[in-house]
Amino acid sequence: MTKDYFLDMDNNKKYTQALKTKIAKLKREKKAVIIAHNYERPEVQQVADILGDSLELSRAVTKVNAKVVVFCGVHFMAETASILNPNKKILLPVKEAGCPMADMITLVKLKQLKAKYPGVPVVCYVNSSAQVKAESDVCCTSSNALEVVNSLSDGEVIFIPDKNLGSYIQSKLKNKQIVLWEGFCPTHIRVSEEEIMQAKKKYPQAKFIAHPECPQRLLQHADYIGSTSGMMRYIKESKDKEFIIGTESGMIYRLEQENPGKKFYSPSEHFICADMKLTTLGWIAYSLENMVYEVKVPEQTRKKARKSLDRMLAVLPKK
Ligand code: SF4
Repeated sequence: MTKDYFLDMDNNKKYTQALKTKIAKLKREKKAVIIAHNYERPEVQQVADILGDSLELSRAVTKVNAKVVVFCGVHFMAETASILNPNKKILLPVKEAGCPMADMITLVKLKQLKAKYPGVPVVCYVNSSAQVKAESDVCCTSSNALEVVNSLSDGEVIFIPDKNLGSYIQSKLKNKQIVLWEGFCPTHIRVSEEEIMQAKKKYPQAKFIAHPECPQRLLQHADYIGSTSGMMRYIKESKDKEFIIGTESGMIYRLEQENPGKKFYSPSEHFICADMKLTTLGWIAYSLENMVYEVKVPEQTRKKARKSLDRMLAVLPKK
């Protein structure tokens, strides 16, 4: 492992630039593309060929020609990309980058839940393992969760693992009975209502826009609720100039780049996902140079999980 990969890049512009040059060279040599989630660090977003939320990135990976994809995000995202693209080499630069919410439901627990509600279809948020996806009927992301649940003819639906997203869907779809699971995103749940109220007081002109992974105590104050791609659209189309961003603060960098003249505020220092911040330029360079860490799913699980993802991809999110 080369020592200069891991120098403090935030405080050292010279090394940041050196790493960017190295990444560009390795990318050409390995014929790779880099894709990054909206929550990644600014410098990681700067070297990415494609940015987006889970649904946009899932679709994007199936369209790129490259055989090597460096996925700057967390494990379930790289796994999803691999399920959809078994012939591409999907690399996760930091193998420990996971999603605590995805770990809140396991295959065993899901089977127990299904046994309790026989015949009830399972909608599984994409923040879940391949095994859990394989055992579910259909996946969804925060972009299309409402449409996916609504596309089912059944009145009762099991929704895993995010109880906050599930509750939000329940509030919108009164004709459905949603069985919730006790999962949640630690990043979105630790922000307090008081922090939102203080931000609103400090920036009285700002609209508060929130991700549906936030608990109801925060969502009740939102002017708009949507996925990160929904937020992007809302802000671009809005005549308002100031926004309080109710999701992981990495999103603010992309919003600033794409909306000059508009102002963005994070209401809380707690809106940081430690796992999303694990990926650095150093790890991307290391990943490309050594072709690590490849994420692969056993074929039997992959085929079953693919069915749940294909059903999801067939449902378009509402614009
Ligand atoms: S922000 Fe929350 S849901 Fe997203 S990866 Fe981090 S812990 Fe998981």
